[in-house]
Amino acid sequence: VAKGFKAARNKLKGRTEITADAVDDALRDIRVALLEADVAFDVVKRFVARVREKAVGEVVETKVKTEKGTLKVTPQDHFIKICHDELEALMGPVDTSLKTNSKRPTGVMMVGLQGSGKTTTTGKLASRFLKEGKKPLLVAADIYRPAAVEQLKVLGAQLGVPVYSEEGLKPPELCKKAQDVAFREKANVILYDTAGRLAIDEPLMEELEQIKAAVAPDNILLVCDAMIGQDAVKTASEFDRRLAIDGFILTKLDGDARGGAALSIKEITGKPIKFLGMGESLDRLEEFRPEGLASRILGFGDIVGLMKDFEQHVDEDQAKKDAEKILSGDFSLDDFVNQIRLVRKMGPLGELMEKFPLFGELPEGFQFDDKQLTRIVAIVDSMTRTERQRPDTLNDARIRRVAKGSGRDEKDVRDLLKQYNAMRAVMRQIGDAPGLLSRLPGVK
Ligand code: GDP
Ligand code: MG
Repeated sequence: VAKGFKAARNKLKGRTEITADAVDDALRDIRVALLEADVAFDVVKRFVARVREKAVGEVVETKVKTEKGTLKVTPQDHFIKICHDELEALMGPVDTSLKTNSKRPTGVMMVGLQGSGKTTTTGKLASRFLKEGKKPLLVAADIYRPAAVEQLKVLGAQLGVPVYSEEGLKPPELCKKAQDVAFREKANVILYDTAGRLAIDEPLMEELEQIKAAVAPDNILLVCDAMIGQDAVKTASEFDRRLAIDGFILTKLDGDARGGAALSIKEITGKPIKFLGMGESLDRLEEFRPEGLASRILGFGDIVGLMKDFEQHVDEDQAKKDAEKILSGDFSLDDFVNQIRLVRKMGPLGELMEKFPLFGELPEGFQFDDKQLTRIVAIVDSMTRTERQRPDTLNDARIRRVAKGSGRDEKDVRDLLKQYNAMRAVMRQIGDAPGLLSRLPGVK
């Protein structure tokens, strides 16, 4: 059953104008979808009011000229675009920069609740700084749990970055002293990994205020676990009130969380989202982009992010052509082989498909290892050009011939065709989502 935004879209199907009644009907589904994505209640209310204002009375059924011909914009498309743009607007303006200090090492103070991902994210940021040619120093200011100090040391060793820890010092003194250590180590960035509690409490807040006063960090970054959902807003407002944070980092977005908390925190604190944590390993930190998160909250999957992945591996024109082809569900067995090759370069297909939460589980048989790829290539190579372009022409006799030609069983050929058809179906489903084609780069 269609839920949330999909349901909302269906309610506008076949209309030529977006009437107030139709909008209200659709907005009811959207309210539920946003609440389910962990957007705070107040923020949902404001969002719905803004979309309503923009959507009612819109003339739809417009035709948009693009370099590839004329696209028809349906009322559903239009409505979803309004929602999408409004979500993006709420999450902007984008500011993923960190302040740097020209006179002394740049200070970055990490704060947040216990388990939110502070230590992990400290390591991820250090790795980023290293790639920018900087020399980071990590400071183990979570002195209450010996395991926490050890965890930071392990990350430091992994990155080849010095870690400063010292027993017998209170965190504010320790952080202050870290500045001398940074001088000795010739470090130009200091990352302070502070302690967290299970809930906000007075001693924690006071300690953080003292650290802030002692080292005057250039950046105070709040690390928030996307899984804590609605509670994230309360946490963020309190940290911001006490410490005046510069921005926040939402972690564990590789899990089920839809990330609505990001929208709420931004809207309520007014502070920018800097980065998103997408996994446990050190390279899993992404700069915040509103398009990606807006589609995720909408439940459409990260089509723009997908396009960027493609662009890194093939040239842009080719990527555009490929994506259009895939999304229209119209691709040949040659394209199928090319896609498997491309996807293998990009990482497992499963990971790729996670960017499409709307479509749920990855269909069976979508993982291909190198051996399978070799086999698929052998089979496809044994087909004629016409058969590759139009696999539906492969009747029993042809399948037998192809199997013989490639030295495989007929069953292998049939399995390949099944996988091909399944992939084509999924891709077509993605392409059918409203507005997606019109959001491809270069298509306005
Ligand atoms: P801290 O108590 O705030 O320092 O949190 P940690 O950095 O120790 O992280 C707590 C747990 O969350 C650890 O098991 C991390 O591996 C995990 N974690 C942190 N960031 C992410 C993320 O972006 N994705 C996932 N899946 N796990 C994360
Ligand atoms: Mg920690």
